[in-house]
Amino acid sequence: MKQVRRTVIVRSSRLPKSIFKMLIELEDAYRSMVEQLVLYTVRNKIKSFIKLKALKYHEMRSLYPQLPSHYVYTACQDASTRVKSFLRLKRKGLAKKEYLVVRKVSIWLDDHLWKPNGLTWIRIATHKGWIAVDFEPHKQYWRYVNSGWRLASEARVKLDKKNRRLIIYFTFVRDVEEYEPRGFIPVDVNEDNVAVLVDGKAYLFETGQRKLVLGYHYRRKKIQEKYDKIYGVKSRMKRKIMRKLKERRKKLDIKHKIANIIVGVAHEKQYAIVLEKLGKHVANGMLRRIRDRQLRHRIYQASFRGIQRAIEEKAKEYGVPVAYVDPRNTSKLCPIHGCKIKYNSRTGKCVEGGEIWHRDVAACWNILLRALSGDGGYASSPIGLDVDGSPVPLPSTATHDPIALPKGLWTRRKSLPQKQNATISNKMKR
Ligand SMILES: [Zn+2]
Repeated sequence: MKQVRRTVIVRSSRLPKSIFKMLIELEDAYRSMVEQLVLYTVRNKIKSFIKLKALKYHEMRSLYPQLPSHYVYTACQDASTRVKSFLRLKRKGLAKKEYLVVRKVSIWLDDHLWKPNGLTWIRIATHKGWIAVDFEPHKQYWRYVNSGWRLASEARVKLDKKNRRLIIYFTFVRDVEEYEPRGFIPVDVNEDNVAVLVDGKAYLFETGQRKLVLGYHYRRKKIQEKYDKIYGVKSRMKRKIMRKLKERRKKLDIKHKIANIIVGVAHEKQYAIVLEKLGKHVANGMLRRIRDRQLRHRIYQASFRGIQRAIEEKAKEYGVPVAYVDPRNTSKLCPIHGCKIKYNSRTGKCVEGGEIWHRDVAACWNILLRALSGDGGYASSPIGLDVDGSPVPLPSTATHDPIALPKGLWTRRKSLPQKQNATISNKMKR
């Protein structure tokens, strides 16, 4: 049994001045506790939250006697989490500052400090007693409430001072049982499409990632250059525009839709999903125009990993097992004969058997074979390149043609199409 956790953010309605003032006082006290605790933790190299609490509880209680005592607990947790992640960044050389500065604060609440009050209200314990806050539920919130998730006992709130609202971070949890898979769905993530193989049928989701990823990269760069020149590197204006760009990008985000469909099919059939371990796709044709090799690598890896991660996340939610195989040469070798495939473009010819392969379909079959010849289960497969191709149906050209799903088609779908309906787009593709 695994526990899956998701954060859902809602906003309160506009609060009365008197209530909001109380919350500001609460935040001030909480912030100064966290600041002191962070300083103390770093200076004394304290590793655990329990130790920190043991050392500082009484002092904090005497400093803030009117505050409910559990705020000391959550402030200790908050502080030790901040210190841990700061030290991790510092080890990797990624910390922006030499010292840890507490800038943004959200108030951590445990089950003694807040209670749900019906489905659209919460109560929060403050230094002046309990206050009730109502929030504006949205579609996503209701979906979690109505589909077997339960609210965790911890939550966070942040003050939106401009609009006099609270931003509430709920955590929803669900226990998920991972099943024993009855089969596999191999997934091959490429620069411009995602290929999957379901019961011998290959499907190709066209993603158009190539243009999207590069386009956003250049737009971001342009904005940076323009605003840095006018307002300096740290301007608010730039941040604001960048944020908008990010939001728009998120809306266009297709990876969640792909993940939904693939995981949905896997769950329905009780199959495991097989992905390639990372490391492939380094020098990629699509990004050749970008001269800086490192940059090219980073951009591509990010989008590639993004799709994998979306699949992994969704899979966790549904208890769909995910396996990983060695990505080497998955598209270069014939799944049947184990020899080379000679490619002209997306399709190529097996040098031994002479059969025609679509590159991404060959990759899918190879991923599947590697999963099958692993330890029979769905742990990561340690095998090399000598796979037994006997499960691959012997080729007629038709067998190895994927069913192409143009972006406009599949982004509106929730499942895979029947083969009959898809043959047209298949022909179109070729
Ligand atoms: Zn062959």
